[in-house]
Amino acid sequence: MAPGVGERSCRVCRRKADKKALLRLVIREGNRIEADPGQTAPGRGWYLCRTEQCLSILNNPKMLRKVFGRPIQAGTAVIGNAQ
Ligand SMILES: [Zn+2]
Repeated sequence: MAPGVGERSCRVCRRKADKKALLRLVIREGNRIEADPGQTAPGRGWYLCRTEQCLSILNNPKMLRKVFGRPIQAGTAVIGNAQ
């Protein structure tokens, strides 16, 4: 595989990894964030490591705002899908 192909950076810690190893998130209408386990949902995707540290932002509205630059709502469904 050529360098960089299929690689994405974690939005939180900037670590690069194969996108299949990361959790894809999409932001829906109303700034609602959803997990996209199949990595096929339309729209701009964001990637997070599947580590407790990076996933923990989903529980933290202040961090979500910092990371995405706007207020984001995360539902419990996001957390459930992330695990
Ligand atoms: Zn990360």
